[in-house]
Amino acid sequence: MRKIIIAGNWKMNKDNREAVELVNLLKREVSDITDVEIIVCPPFIALSDVKDVLTDSNIAIGAQNCYWEEAGAFTGEISPVMLKGLEIPYVIIGHSERRQFFGETDETVNKRVRAALNHGLTPIVCVGENLDQREADQAFDVIKTQVENGLQGFSAEEAQKMILAYEPVWAIGTGKTATPDQAQEVHKYIRGLLNKIFGQAAADAIRIQYGGSVKPENAGELLSQPDIDGALVGGASLKVEDFSAIIKSGVSVTSAK
Ligand code: PEP
Repeated sequence: MRKIIIAGNWKMNKDNREAVELVNLLKREVSDITDVEIIVCPPFIALSDVKDVLTDSNIAIGAQNCYWEEAGAFTGEISPVMLKGLEIPYVIIGHSERRQFFGETDETVNKRVRAALNHGLTPIVCVGENLDQREADQAFDVIKTQVENGLQGFSAEEAQKMILAYEPVWAIGTGKTATPDQAQEVHKYIRGLLNKIFGQAAADAIRIQYGGSVKPENAGELLSQPDIDGALVGGASLKVEDFSAIIKSGVSVTSAK
């Protein structure tokens, strides 16, 4: 069975002091949870201190992006080597905000995923259609292109070291969630694509998170879907009460399966 994995993407929120405060509170709320994997992804500047707070806890830490080069004249970028040096195990790659505002493409996603894997980081690779594409009935084509191009050139063994996140752009930060049926339909489709590219064993093993206005009220139903293996949570991950309630929904779903 794929273990549910809930990640909080804090985006460009929380300074170092606030980040440490938030994660200290979260740690207390979820300390007894072992059935669900938990990750927080604070801004780069807070990674080091948040990581110290999380030492020996059941909460892992991830970055929100990384570049594909190891070092050099790339002002403003953070390399996978730097993340590895800080012992950061996870990194989000290709979030729709990176694609929308920072020119990320499937090709650059591919390079970043390659670099992350080469340095032993686990990438959380994001895909998802925007509203125009959904309304034009292009959601599946868009996702097919993103998955095929973003994951081009990886072996089945490498693919199993990744986590995917399906995040319909129209549901991110908008309060509009894909219905559990809508989300399951796309997750099943993505698993089918993974099967075609990497084979059945890899497709069965790779976890696919759903992201887009996940809240305590909808998490249980979403996580109960057969091909939804977790959540990538933005806004609600900034509130300890909400994020821990989402994690606890994952625990209930796991024990009911
Ligand atoms: C996200 O940023 O990955 C996200 C899903 O945001 P939100 O939960 O706020 O929609």
